[in-house]
Amino acid sequence: MYRSLFAFILISLFTVNNSAAGQSGAASTGETRTERIRSGTIGTGNTSVGGVSTGSTSVRDTGTGQIRIVDRPVSFSERREAGMLRYIEEHYGLKQSNLEFTPRMIVLHWTEIETFEGTFQTFNQETTSRTDISGAGDVNVSIQFVVDRDGTIYRLQPENWMARHVIGLNHVSIGIENVGTGTRSSDTLTDAQIEANVLLIRDLITRYPTIEYVIGHHEYQRFENDPLWGELDQGYRTIKIDPGDRFMAAVRAQIRDLEMKGPPK
Ligand SMILES: [Zn+2]
Repeated sequence: MYRSLFAFILISLFTVNNSAAGQSGAASTGETRTERIRSGTIGTGNTSVGGVSTGSTSVRDTGTGQIRIVDRPVSFSERREAGMLRYIEEHYGLKQSNLEFTPRMIVLHWTEIETFEGTFQTFNQETTSRTDISGAGDVNVSIQFVVDRDGTIYRLQPENWMARHVIGLNHVSIGIENVGTGTRSSDTLTDAQIEANVLLIRDLITRYPTIEYVIGHHEYQRFENDPLWGELDQGYRTIKIDPGDRFMAAVRAQIRDLEMKGPPK
């Protein structure tokens, strides 16, 4: 876990040094790790040029192909972090001083927003006004990864920080959104997205050997009686159909050798 966080910090410093002149003070000693991350890539300003984050890219070999991850960190102020910490205490009974967690699962999704930029802007908001979920806390939904329709992989927050993307399992899961085509009901995800999800899953499992499950968001409620289920509010559920059985079957067919578990029967 710490090694990947360290990698993220290195990426952060690389971004700072290359895209924001005068901000290299972020590397000075005496700051906490979290402060250094926030001043490096999390939060607006340091990685932005004209309001558009420039991002940085890391490339690694997964053994079955080369993966390229573009960092596009969303705004994550101390207020948002505090909101998330409050959320995980209220909903999971976990009192933590930071958002780090041990991933046990990867959850795949699709967006109802048709573009990566639109998706990014949605996750970049720090609070939510969505009436179906705001009663459970106004900290905005969040996600570690978004895969664009051409297969480009974006990382929106440190991958070992909890995000708000799946009721009951946020405390154990890394989420991957796939940019959809604005429909609530049909799967229009691309072959490039299937390939990118497969690569990303392989990459994550290499770096987090604690991951045992790969599931679709539409399968999440099958964990309700599983020891992994963490949601304390019995009335807080939403019906999900993303990303659907076709997409999950296509991804699972290509990661069969990893012997990942699905949802309980
Ligand atoms: Zn979803």
